Order: sequence, then C-alpha cells, then structure tokens
Amino acid sequence: LFGKMEAQADLPTITTDQHTVELMINAGLSVDIDLQDKPNVTGVGLFRTEIPFMLREGFPSEQEQFTLYREILQAHPDKEITMRTLDVGGDKPLPYFPIVEDNPFLGWRGIRMTLDQPEIFLVQARAMIRASEDLTNLHILLPMITTVSEVKEAKRLLQQAFFEVKDESLANRSTLMMPKIGIMIEVPAAAHQIPHLAAEVDFFSVGTNDLTQYLLAVDRNNPKVSTLYNSFHPAVLAVLQEIVDKAKLMHTPITVCGEMAGDPAGAILLMAMGYTKLSMSAYNIRKINWVLRSIQLYSAQHLLSEVINMPDAQQIKTRIDMYLEEHQ
Ligand code: PEP
Ligand code: MG
Repeated sequence: LFGKMEAQADLPTITTDQHTVELMINAGLSVDIDLQDKPNVTGVGLFRTEIPFMLREGFPSEQEQFTLYREILQAHPDKEITMRTLDVGGDKPLPYFPIVEDNPFLGWRGIRMTLDQPEIFLVQARAMIRASEDLTNLHILLPMITTVSEVKEAKRLLQQAFFEVKDESLANRSTLMMPKIGIMIEVPAAAHQIPHLAAEVDFFSVGTNDLTQYLLAVDRNNPKVSTLYNSFHPAVLAVLQEIVDKAKLMHTPITVCGEMAGDPAGAILLMAMGYTKLSMSAYNIRKINWVLRSIQLYSAQHLLSEVINMPDAQQIKTRIDMYLEEHQ
C-alpha cells in the first residue's frame, strides 16, 4: 500500500468519478513550507503567524516580520499564501504579553486583541503588504471573527496600512496590490452570518478546531473532556454543511483549515458536503490525496446522507471507518 501511495503522491487530487479537490498546507514556520516537491499542493491555506511571535523574547519589529513574510511569498510566487494575522490568547500565549483571564477561550483572543491594540495589527499588516510587492499571492486571513463590525474595522486598518506603505515608498510602487482578505469561520455566531460576512470579504476559511470547541462547549485542550471533543458530532456536521451551502450561494471561495481536513474520515465528509479546498499539516497530504483518489464523490455523498441523520459522533465515526476499510 505504501508503495502505491508513494507512486501516486504527486498526482492531483481527483476522485475516481473525476471530482477535483485542492489540497493546501498549514504551517507556522517557514521551514514547514516545503512546496517544491509537492506539485499537487496549491499553496499555504493557513500560515499561523503567531508561531514566530511565540518563539521570540518580544514583539518582532516591522522589518523582522517583513523579512520573514517576504521570504515565504517570494519563494512561491505561483502559489496562494494565506497569512493569518496574529491569533494569540486562548491556548496561544505570548510570554512577553501576558493575558490573565478567567475564561481565556471566551476572552481576549485573535482579532479581539489586535483590534484593541491597533499598533500591533498595523505593524503586521504593513509588513505583510510590503512583503507582497511585485507579487500577487498574498491572502490575509483574520482569526476569531464574531461580528461584521470587526471585519469592517480590520479592513479599515488594512486599507490604512496599504496606503501608508504606498505613500512612504520612494520607488514607484505601482505594482503594490491590495491583498485578498478573508476571515476564519470558527465562532458559531459567524457560521450563522455567512451572507453578511460574505459581503465584506474575498474568502472564508473554516477553523474546525475552534468551531468544534465552541459548538460543543468543550475545551479543545482539556484531557478531562477530550472524549466529548469530536468534530463528527452531528451538530458540528450540520453547521459545516450550512456554512458551505451559504458560502456557495454567495459565490465566496471557502477552505477548511482545521484538523478535520487532514483526517481521512473528515476529508471525505467535507468533500461530500461541497468543500473543494482542504488545508492540512504537510504530513497528512499524501494520505488524504491517496484516500480521495481512491473513492467516488458520489459514494462519499451517499455516505454523508447516511451519517448526517445518525444520533451521535461514535456511530458516525464507526460507519465512516467501515466505509474507509471497504474502499482501501
Ligand atoms: C482552527 O481553529 O480550526 C484553526 C485552524 O486555527 P487554530 O487551530 O490555529 O486555532
Ligand atoms: Mg482557531
């Protein structure tokens, strides 16, 4: 099996009934972004910029951020590179910027923190935009969006950063383009506001890790409740279906970048729901490519229609595992 998987590793992800799925990678360090030997990976679906921030002693300067972002964007001019603005708080603390709260996951995290500290947001936005000069591959992704007004405020700051960069340069920056702007759909409220949010952005990216945590009221890192944390809960599946249906109605491109996309059972269901872009840790690419290349979209849709009405995650997972065994 491994030999066969190896031989097909670089082939595009097309089901046996000719349905194409785009695979992308999630990364947090530039060394993780190894796309040279992966012709069928269309880009970086999620670059977690907080990881380089977490590894330092203090906030990186605009110049330091610029150097990092530039290196990544320049190395892959033909691939979509999605950089998420700083997503700290919750499970991702910055040692030099302590946030003490009773409920960190319901607190000052992601876009909430950076909109309250616009300097941090602007420095990062300027670094990203400067790094994208002469290139067209930068996509900027906003984490933890809950309301339309947060998106509007973040877009206002991004515009400001864009015009600052454009005005400051001595050289003619006519090749500087406003990057595409998207948001994470990972707070349940956002999942139910797709039409309004779609009116503001160029793309969506579904964060199944946080979406599952918030829909089930289960801390994603607490071992005491880890058996309850399950993205195959029928309520999670119903919301994921609603999100993709509404995004399609609005013609807004949509990716899934949570762990579920890198899990064979998850990828099958997501594809069946209508998601065509899946972003995952690089080490899952081969496996997911292999699994999707060995099944039919039609049979995955049939499987989805069967499991969507089941009462609990365990039953759903058992049924999908059976399907996977039959199809390998
Ligand atoms: C998610 O929440 O699903 C996600 C991809 O973001 P992170 O895991 O970084 O919170
Ligand atoms: Mg998240």
